[in-house]
Amino acid sequence: RVRVRFAPSPTGALHMGGVRTALFNYLFARQHGGDFLLRIEDTDSNRFVPGAEDYIIESLKWCGIQIDEGVSVGGPHAPYRQSERKELYKKYSDQLIESGNAYVAFDTAEELDKLRAEYEAEGKTFTYNFEVREKLATSLALSAEEVQRRISAGDQYVVRFKMPENEEIVMNDLIRGEVIVNSSTLDDKVLYKSADQLPTYHLANIVDDYLMDISHVIRGEEWLPSLPLHVSLYKAFGWLDKMPQFAHLPLLLKPSGKGKLSKRDGDKLGFPVFPLRWVDPKTGETASGYRESGYLPEAFVNLLALLGWNPGTNQELFTIEELIPLFSLDRVSKSGARFDPEKAKWFNQQHIQRLSVEELTPLAKAELAKHGVEPTDEFVATVTGLVKDRLVFVHDIWEQASYFFVAPTEYDEKVAAKFWNADMAKAAAEIAELTSTASDFSAAAIEATIKEYIHSSGLKMGQVMNSLRLLLVGSSKGPGIADIISAIGKDDAVGRIRRGIE
Ligand code: GLU
Repeated sequence: RVRVRFAPSPTGALHMGGVRTALFNYLFARQHGGDFLLRIEDTDSNRFVPGAEDYIIESLKWCGIQIDEGVSVGGPHAPYRQSERKELYKKYSDQLIESGNAYVAFDTAEELDKLRAEYEAEGKTFTYNFEVREKLATSLALSAEEVQRRISAGDQYVVRFKMPENEEIVMNDLIRGEVIVNSSTLDDKVLYKSADQLPTYHLANIVDDYLMDISHVIRGEEWLPSLPLHVSLYKAFGWLDKMPQFAHLPLLLKPSGKGKLSKRDGDKLGFPVFPLRWVDPKTGETASGYRESGYLPEAFVNLLALLGWNPGTNQELFTIEELIPLFSLDRVSKSGARFDPEKAKWFNQQHIQRLSVEELTPLAKAELAKHGVEPTDEFVATVTGLVKDRLVFVHDIWEQASYFFVAPTEYDEKVAAKFWNADMAKAAAEIAELTSTASDFSAAAIEATIKEYIHSSGLKMGQVMNSLRLLLVGSSKGPGIADIISAIGKDDAVGRIRRGIE
């Protein structure tokens, strides 16, 4: 059974690259009828940030990524927060010591610095591995009694993985293919710390993936360097037959294509890098989010899906449901995916067009309410229908259509200079009269009446229409005149024309 997990550490807001990792895991799980788990990896207490976990959960929810098992929903492997699984990891750390795959190390930072300095003095690079592990106060150098004595005396220690010397570690990545590393280039990573009685990421991650029956690990490329250690851990535990398959997703690159898109790039480059607005609990600094910037979750998900994956066709627009059957790890690229903020806007504009007027109306209403305008649903629906194709963001409704709700009090002088004169004033007054007595107030009927009047009066069509627009809107924007008159209704339209003439 396919079981995948998204395993963020709650160290701050979730970067859009993190959301993409969650999305790819989710799509993969859904496509295979499998499970998508959310596990919180919070064993590094120094980097814990309050509020980050809620932020992650809210972000996934906003995107429509549903969690089958994990924090916030529970499940057969609960708890899903590593800090609550604390007791469990010690046993596995001990197991590795007993099998000779790990050892206890008491060395202090000073001792390490001293040894490092000696290496550097000889022009050698220092790696904590087979070369040095016996030169330091480790259980490989000390007697068993001495180790016991120190532990009983309360000396702090760490447990390190005993990385084998000169072994070929062969790994298979579903995206990158075979990767081979010689173990001698790797260091003995810390797995467990007595000081806080907590495992490090590496130990907790492997133990939990094993216990939670994870079949595929899909995560960011930044974890590829940890893969040799992870594979070595599966081997040391004797779990190779249950080892998940790995897929490392390509980095997200800055719009320039140079360098990876980092958390700090966000607002500096003029676009959000976070799904939701984030206020740093320590500094109070705010970083903008896609949601608050006016992106539809559909558009955000769509743009993320195409960062590093392609459907193999020209199709660019997808909902999350449409992505499920199409997604495939085979179509994930090895090379970094450049993020284009202009394209992001295009996705939003396109997804607005994909929504029906009924779906858009409540969103448009909420935006209008921010400007103190609360028209009826029916009126908002009419206006939304008229200006929908001009919206890149729903909040553009104000820029594009505020005049529907608020009559103009100022008139664009350039437009006036170009079209307005006494003839126009006379024509406008007569059109106001015709409008006030019209029985059919549909846009088509109004259009026919106005055109007929202009033809019979011998005036210029363009000039009259532009003048009318000036009186109704205050400027030269907006959809057809008849559409505007029909939408705002008889009283308002006639009132605007008459007021404007004066
Ligand atoms: N806790 C790691 C992170 O923050 C998880 C990496 C993994 O998926 O193995 O990204």
